[in-house]
Amino acid sequence: MTRRGFVAGAGAAATSGQGHAAEHKHDHDHQAVPSDLTLRVKALESLLVEKGLVDRAALDALVDSYEHKVGPRNGARVVAKAWADPAYKQRLLTFDPVASHLIAVENTPRLHHVVVCTLCSCYPWSVLGLPPVWYKSAPYRSRAVIDPRGVLREFGLDLPADVEVRVWDSTAEIRYLVLPERPAGTEKLTEDQLAALVTRDAMVGVAKVTQPAAGAKA
Ligand code: FE
Repeated sequence: MTRRGFVAGAGAAATSGQGHAAEHKHDHDHQAVPSDLTLRVKALESLLVEKGLVDRAALDALVDSYEHKVGPRNGARVVAKAWADPAYKQRLLTFDPVASHLIAVENTPRLHHVVVCTLCSCYPWSVLGLPPVWYKSAPYRSRAVIDPRGVLREFGLDLPADVEVRVWDSTAEIRYLVLPERPAGTEKLTEDQLAALVTRDAMVGVAKVTQPAAGAKA
């Protein structure tokens, strides 16, 4: 299964009503039937708003913030700074996890970290924004632990047998950020240019950061 497969599998139940709309063009809008989960969330939200326990505008502001303001770019800046500044990297890797609720784990040529939440979808929102659909999918959550190498291969990352793979299971208390290996050939890049190379997937550990194509404007 490819990453797309994970997404499709995870989303299939939720979007079964949209396949039809995607197959051919219409000059009218289709109203897809929302998934059970979406309905449950809507029902819960309505109830909480009705009882005056939450403010709908505050909820919208929160979701908007994580969707548009906080995203993987925060994490990418952290990674780029860690690559560029050894003292910062040292601090990042030795954060007090109880205080920060975040542990940064460093990939090396011999050790590769990958992050999952087997229970639900715990994810370091503050540095990576909202989790991708595949991260929340049952196949990723179960298989990342049972067969991490197989899962990584499906993401296009085929690790040599002598590279140890370590899987970190996130919890409500502790989230993980993978500090990917800095790619060769990036010695002259600025922090901003480095940050632009760092992908969300690399910070979850399902991809590596690759160097910019030769001749590409950095
Ligand atoms: Fe979780």
